[in-house]
Amino acid sequence: MTTIATDRLIAPHGGSLVDRTGERPVGVDGLERIVLTSREVSDLDMLASGALSPLEGFMGRDDYERVVEEMRLADGLVWALPVCLAVAAAPAGDRLALADEAGTLLAVLDVEDVYEYDKEREAERCFRTTDEAHPGVARLYAQHPLYLAGRVTVFERPRPQFEKLARDPAETRRIFAERGWKRVVGFQTRNPIHRAHEYLTKVALETVDGLLVHPLVGDTKSDDVPAATRVECYRVLLERYYPPDRVLLSAFPAAMRYAGPREAVWHAICRKNWGCSHFIVGRDHAGVGDYYGTYDAQLIFDDFEPHELGVEPLFFEHSFYCRTCGSMASAKTCPHAAEEHVFLSGTKVRELLAAGEVPPEEFTRHEVAEVLIEAYRS
Ligand SMILES: [Zn+2]
Repeated sequence: MTTIATDRLIAPHGGSLVDRTGERPVGVDGLERIVLTSREVSDLDMLASGALSPLEGFMGRDDYERVVEEMRLADGLVWALPVCLAVAAAPAGDRLALADEAGTLLAVLDVEDVYEYDKEREAERCFRTTDEAHPGVARLYAQHPLYLAGRVTVFERPRPQFEKLARDPAETRRIFAERGWKRVVGFQTRNPIHRAHEYLTKVALETVDGLLVHPLVGDTKSDDVPAATRVECYRVLLERYYPPDRVLLSAFPAAMRYAGPREAVWHAICRKNWGCSHFIVGRDHAGVGDYYGTYDAQLIFDDFEPHELGVEPLFFEHSFYCRTCGSMASAKTCPHAAEEHVFLSGTKVRELLAAGEVPPEEFTRHEVAEVLIEAYRS
């Protein structure tokens, strides 16, 4: 078998792709056991696959402190959000088994440190608010009081929700290389793709070799459109409106943190590990409610020198169909008044779909609308 060199692609964050998968160690059943939340399981799986390179385990105190204060790991490498494992009490042993909520053993963790952390400070620094109504803050406040740090070795990967879409960074990198891509743009989404986002992915695709549509399928808020419905929307849209040899649809297995600006940087770094040289950052990326300013998720990238991130953010405005332009456009490219723009609020779109009505073609492709209407019916 010939191997295809992936060295034309952007290097993983920190230089090399981490692999923390391994054999199931003898005696693992007799180890003290820590049960992970679903969010911690998704972090664990991303550690296993190298999606969080250069991290090899849950963060120790030095990394944690500097990430919270300065968005850098202890060695100075840019890193935007804590990746930590919260526990109720310090374990007795120095090697632990990690299990999911169903009791399945997934990994071993070699304990390096157990430390206290300040939830309010983490909330204030990472979420820019201490308001418990913020879903990320609420999750943080509800978790155990200590962080447990250490390298992980994962011997049982959680079964992916969408097996056909589950691709580790090593695999997307291989696919990109096989297709001869060098410059690849990543697109994060947790919503169905309507015309506005179709437009900006295609504007980005005009300038690079390939597009990774990388929807988040981990935990989201309960009022977000369910992942299975969204995945079906992506399938019908890509099948009808994108050139198949220029696009790859794959799932981003992370849980949503709703950390707005910091999460935008974190999302960009993760996609760099998947092989993306560019990353689309829209307005209010990874935001929730009105905790973040419209452009905060774009402005935060100015905190770093371009070479420190490697992956290049591409900033976009909201886009719309303009009747006078006769095309998709945005405030950056269209001089016409708002009356000329086909705009529907999220509430209006939900009303239409719930009533079984297809929104205007200028707003959403009818194939996508039909999937959503069907989901509303059931
Ligand atoms: Zn116009």
